[in-house]
Amino acid sequence: MSAGLLIMSRFLHVVEVADAVRAAVKIAPVRATEKVTVDQSAGRVLAAPVTSDTDIPGFDRSVVDGYAVRSSDTNGAGNASPAMLQSVGRIAMGTRDSKIILRASDCAYIPTGGVLPEGADAAVMVEYTEEAGDTILIKKPVSPGENVLLRDEDFKKDEIVFLPGRRLTPQDAGVLAACGCAMVTVAKKPVVGIISTGNELVPVTARPGPGQVRDANAPMLAAWLREYGCIPRLYGIVKDEREAFEDVIARALPECDVVLLSGGSSKDDRDMTAGVIAGRGDVLIHGIAIAPGKPTIIGMVDKKPVFGLPGHPASAFVVLIAIVRPLLDTMLGLEKPLLRTVKATLRENIPSQRGREEYVRVRVEHGFAIPLFGKSGLLNTLVKSDGLICIPAGYEGLEKGSKVEVILW
Ligand code: AMP
Ligand code: MG
Repeated sequence: MSAGLLIMSRFLHVVEVADAVRAAVKIAPVRATEKVTVDQSAGRVLAAPVTSDTDIPGFDRSVVDGYAVRSSDTNGAGNASPAMLQSVGRIAMGTRDSKIILRASDCAYIPTGGVLPEGADAAVMVEYTEEAGDTILIKKPVSPGENVLLRDEDFKKDEIVFLPGRRLTPQDAGVLAACGCAMVTVAKKPVVGIISTGNELVPVTARPGPGQVRDANAPMLAAWLREYGCIPRLYGIVKDEREAFEDVIARALPECDVVLLSGGSSKDDRDMTAGVIAGRGDVLIHGIAIAPGKPTIIGMVDKKPVFGLPGHPASAFVVLIAIVRPLLDTMLGLEKPLLRTVKATLRENIPSQRGREEYVRVRVEHGFAIPLFGKSGLLNTLVKSDGLICIPAGYEGLEKGSKVEVILW
C-alpha cells in the first residue's frame, strides 16, 4: 500500500460492510406501490397477496383426448381382451352437457379440457381405444381419477396463490390471469439518478483526448438498475467543481428516489461528493471495509439516499451490488435478492486482507471458480469473468478446494 493511500485511510472512517448495509437499508424510502395489468406484471415485485376468485379447475376435466369412463368398467382390459363399452355421446368443449350420464359399461368421447360427465371417474387416452360403430374397445385399464383433474385440485377459491415479495415471472402472469387477477399490485420501480463525475470523463460518443476516459459507469449502472427493476435517470457528466455538483444534485433530488454519484468519493481535494452532501444534508458513512470500493459515501439529502460510489467501474459495480442493492431490495419489498448465484469449487488459493470484505472476480468452468487476479482498474477482467466471490472480512483468504458461491454477473 502506498503512503498516499495510508494517509487517505486515516481520514476515512471505515465501517464494516454489515453496518453500511444496515445504514443504507435504514434510509430506504418507504415502498410505493402501483397497479399494473397482468400482462405487464412479469419482472415486477408483487406487493400484495393474490388469491384465486374461483376454484381451478372449476369442474372435473379430462387432461387427454379419449373416452370418459367408469374406471371399474376397464378392470383387466388389455390388447387381447379389450373392455367393450357403449358410446353414449360426445362431450363438447366449454359447456356442461347434463344429458350425457354414464351408467355401467357406458363411455363418451371427451376432448382435453372437456367436462367429465356424471358417472365417469377417469378418462382413457384415445391411443388405447378403437371404435367399432357405437362400441368402443378399451385396451388399457385406468384407475379412479386417472387422466382427470379434479375440481379445485390446482387452486381453491380464496386460497393464497402468491405472497408479496415475489418477483413475478411470465408463468406467474398466466396463473394470475387464471385466478381472475386482471390488475396486479406491485412495487413501484425506484427511480435512481446517475451522475458521473470527473474532469477526465467524456461521453461515449467522444473520442478521449490525452488524459481523458470515456464514462463507463453511467451506462453500466443504468443497465444493471434497469435489469434489477429500477428506472435509471441519467444526469450526464459533471466536472469536479463544487457548484456543478450542487446544481446537478439539486436537479436530481426532486426527480429521483435515490441518487448515485460515481467518482469523487475519496478525500482528495478534487473529491467533492462528501463536501457537497455534507453541505446540503448528512454524510452518514464515508469509508467501508470492502475491496474494491473502500471510498464509498452513504449520505442523505432532503430525506433521500445519496451514494458516492468509487470511480473505478469495477469498484462502483461491487459497491452497487453489495451496498446499494440491499436498499433497493427494501424499496422493492423483495423477499430475496434477485442475484443469480452458482456454487463452485475454488481452483486456486486467494489471499485476502483480514478486516475487509473482499470481492474477487472469477471465471466459472466445469464447477470450478478460477480467480482472475489483476489490477483493480482493469476493465478486461469484468469481461473475462463470470461473476464475483465474496471473501468475508474475518478471513485471511480462501483455500483452493473451498466451496464458494459465485454471484454471477
Ligand atoms: P475517482 O473515484 O474519481 O478518484 O476515480 C477513480 C478512477 O476511476 C479514475 O481513474 C477515474 O478516471 C475513473 N473513473 C471515474 N469515473 C469513471 C467513469 N464514470 N467511467 C470510467 N472511469 C471512471
Ligand atoms: Mg474523480
